[in-house]
Amino acid sequence: MADFDYDVLVIGAGPGGYVAAIRAAQLGLKTACAESRETLGGTCLNVGCIPSKALLHASELYEEAAGGALAKLGVKIDKMSLDLDTMQGQRKDAVNGLTGGIEFLFKKNKVTWLKGLASFTGANTVEVAGEKVTAKNIVIATGSSVTPLPGVEVDNKKGLIVDSTGALELDKVPDHLVVIGGGVIGLELGSVWRRLGAKVTVVEFLDQILPGMDGEVRKEANKIFKKQGFDYKLGTKVTGAKVKGKHVELTVEPAAGGDAATIEADCVLVSIGRRPNTEGLGLDKIGLDLNGRGQIETDHDFATRVPGVWAIGDVIPGPMLAHKAEDEGIAVAENIAGLTGIVNHDVIPSVVYTSPEIAGVGLTEEAAKERGAVKVGKFPMLANSRAKTNHEPDGFVKVIADAETDRVLGVWIIASVAGTMIAQAAQAMEFGASSEDIAYTCHAHPTHSEAIKEAAMAVTGKPIHM
Ligand code: FAD
Ligand code: NAD
Repeated sequence: MADFDYDVLVIGAGPGGYVAAIRAAQLGLKTACAESRETLGGTCLNVGCIPSKALLHASELYEEAAGGALAKLGVKIDKMSLDLDTMQGQRKDAVNGLTGGIEFLFKKNKVTWLKGLASFTGANTVEVAGEKVTAKNIVIATGSSVTPLPGVEVDNKKGLIVDSTGALELDKVPDHLVVIGGGVIGLELGSVWRRLGAKVTVVEFLDQILPGMDGEVRKEANKIFKKQGFDYKLGTKVTGAKVKGKHVELTVEPAAGGDAATIEADCVLVSIGRRPNTEGLGLDKIGLDLNGRGQIETDHDFATRVPGVWAIGDVIPGPMLAHKAEDEGIAVAENIAGLTGIVNHDVIPSVVYTSPEIAGVGLTEEAAKERGAVKVGKFPMLANSRAKTNHEPDGFVKVIADAETDRVLGVWIIASVAGTMIAQAAQAMEFGASSEDIAYTCHAHPTHSEAIKEAAMAVTGKPIHM
């Protein structure tokens, strides 16, 4: 240790990096974390998970009030209006509170924050804001940024063509928002502005929204969002954008080829995916190559090919999710400390925080069938007493189990609180549960979660309330 400034230096203070740094310090390692942003917390806390959920929550309440859903429950509001400044203010408060919280946790755990951009200058050495820092172990947790779309130039300041960061900060509700990419960001942020009054058109290259999710879930989600007012142009690609005064003219073509058409918008959101942040890191100085997708490859312990250099989070392969990055942060710190840190990448839940929410864990039905025979149990939320009472009829739970062993391979949910419900499915799968285990677990009544029990019962054809 005497030869190095730190036992562990983490580059990037997102959910991967800040968690790795705190765990390393908790394990008695002298730890620093380099972060170039003004505040800690990375994409997730500053411009991702947290601000988007602040707007999703507030806009959902607005729509319930404005759309008459509250009035139907006897909650009459005579005069209501949108105060977007206040809504945006509470988004900023949520971000400030949580990013400040990480700063507090760094102090509490004695993690040193090195402010500035870090770049390797050699093995075990990085430069941060002109200062040379050495560490026995260096963890790359630099995250990801928006994938650019050639011909559609993002300018968040003008607010006409924006990425997710710009779409969180709009100071007025667009009349017509065109979302390029029918993935998670497009549907979440599209929902925010649709609820607040925008017409929203989603242009998606593939023939269905939400790639990577279970096929039936994608189809049902498409139907639900259409009912809410989303307009889709599926199987369509954007080939260019022209800013004309306060409008944008987008040129689109069928993905399979065909005649071009134009769409007029007063705001365009580019949300076609994210790519790993590796530029300027000086990886060439330590001989660390990227794979074909620009990611850093690691082994099961999150070690790269270069001794003493580790990597976690969005910059390595796997789903770009905050909780995946956090779990990898804990595991890498434990591995550095000589313990055994493991992440089970087969059981990482994903949630789309629309209304209703969409969640899944494990294999889709399509992927499970490719591996062998499966049994599938489904239960509609319409038949769940709590969802019905709360006027939340949309969605279903689907449990996919191995036909021979009954082991649960995947669970997919569309329900108002699917994001909360999916945790029990992940835990059951982590413990190797069978569908019978879930079916015979007592679930509190009346809860949305009873739909998971009933879907598990349906695997053997014996749900009660259907
Ligand atoms: P990041 O959070 O990207 O953090 C990396 C940090 O490293 C950044 O702060 C960056 O400034 C810093 N950095 C980069 N290079 C350097 C350098 N050379 N020197 C110093 N610092 C550097 N995921 C979910 O699970 N749930 C959600 O609800 C969700 N919502 C999202 C909404 C939006 C709009 C977006 C954009 C993303 C969302 N995500 C969500 C994804 C989630 O934000 C990421 O998966 C997560 O932040 C990845 O964590 P990370 O630690 O790998 O990287
Ligand atoms: P995504 O990968 O979810 O969706 C991108 C979509 O754009 C895909 O459907 C893709 O087919 C489409 N696309 C790609 N190129 C296109 C083109 N030229 N024209 C039209 N469509 C095109 O990506 P995203 O929505 O940008 O989100 C990025 C990442 O952020 C995701 O990996 C996601 O995991 C993460 N995220 C997670 C959450 C959450 O967990 N709730 C929320 C937001 C973001």
